[in-house]
Amino acid sequence: MTTTVRTAEELARLHRLVSWHDVPLNLPSAALAGEACVWCTSPADATAVELEPSNPLPRRGCLLCYAARVAWYVSWYDWHGHFESCTHCQQRKTCYIGHGRRLLHEQTIGPADRSKPKCAVCPALVLPTELVAPLYWVGATHQIRLGYAHVRCLTEKARVR
Ligand SMILES: [Zn+2]
Ligand SMILES: [Zn+2]
Ligand SMILES: [Zn+2]
Repeated sequence: MTTTVRTAEELARLHRLVSWHDVPLNLPSAALAGEACVWCTSPADATAVELEPSNPLPRRGCLLCYAARVAWYVSWYDWHGHFESCTHCQQRKTCYIGHGRRLLHEQTIGPADRSKPKCAVCPALVLPTELVAPLYWVGATHQIRLGYAHVRCLTEKARVR
C-alpha cells in the first residue's frame, strides 16, 4: 500500500464511509450489541473501532476488518485522484502509473470482502487486460457510489445510472 499522509478531516470522512456503507444489514446479535466485529464476528476487544453512529446501539469493527475497508477507499481515491489529473488517463491511453494504482486498489478488494469489480455501464466484470477507469456516480438513494467502468464504455460520467 502507499503510505499517503491523510488529514484528520479525510480520516473522519473515510470513517463515515466505512461506518455507513460497509456494515452488513443483517447482523448477529453479538454484533448488534457491540460485542463482536460487525464483519468477522470475532469478539470485540480494546482495539476494536467504534463505528458511527454508536448511538443508540454500539457497533464495533475489529482493527483488521476496519483497516481492510479503509484501504479499499484510500486506494480507490488514490487511483481516482491520479486519473482525474493525468493527461494520459484523461486521453484514455495506457498509463503505467494509473495501472499501478489500479493494481494496488484491486489488492484491497478481497480483504475488504468486496465482489469482483464490474463495469458500471455495460455491466460486465472488468478483466485485467481491459482498460478501466475509476468512476463515481450518485446512486438511487442519493449516496455517492464508487466503482469502475471500461474506458470503452465511458462516454460521459453524468450519463451513468
Ligand atoms: Zn473483524
Ligand atoms: Zn495516468
Ligand atoms: Zn463496460
